[in-house]
Amino acid sequence: MRFQHDCEKCKPLGEFEGADLYYCEAQLIGGPTVIARHSSDGADYQSGMVFADKIPALGEARNRAIAAGYMTPNLEFSGTPAALSPEAPLERRVGGAVPPAPTFGEHEK
Ligand SMILES: [Zn+2]
Repeated sequence: MRFQHDCEKCKPLGEFEGADLYYCEAQLIGGPTVIARHSSDGADYQSGMVFADKIPALGEARNRAIAAGYMTPNLEFSGTPAALSPEAPLERRVGGAVPPAPTFGEHEK
């Protein structure tokens, strides 16, 4: 890795075409992301899983993150064995108990 990066949660994925690649699961909004850092300057990076199809460095980061087991492929990657991984935190969240809706006032007859 060639550059300084300011996030301790990022997992380094090696270098690609002069950029440092990272996988970061610390994003509260938007879920995990991949990062391609181009210098040690704080803002000089690209990130975003949605750009992995458009930006080669981010696509490479995503592939390496999948290969390293940091993430499972999205649905558009269907057909790969990793998609059947038992790790499915999103499903567990969605399948969790739903709190009862609050009731207002008395409706008994
Ligand atoms: Zn990070």
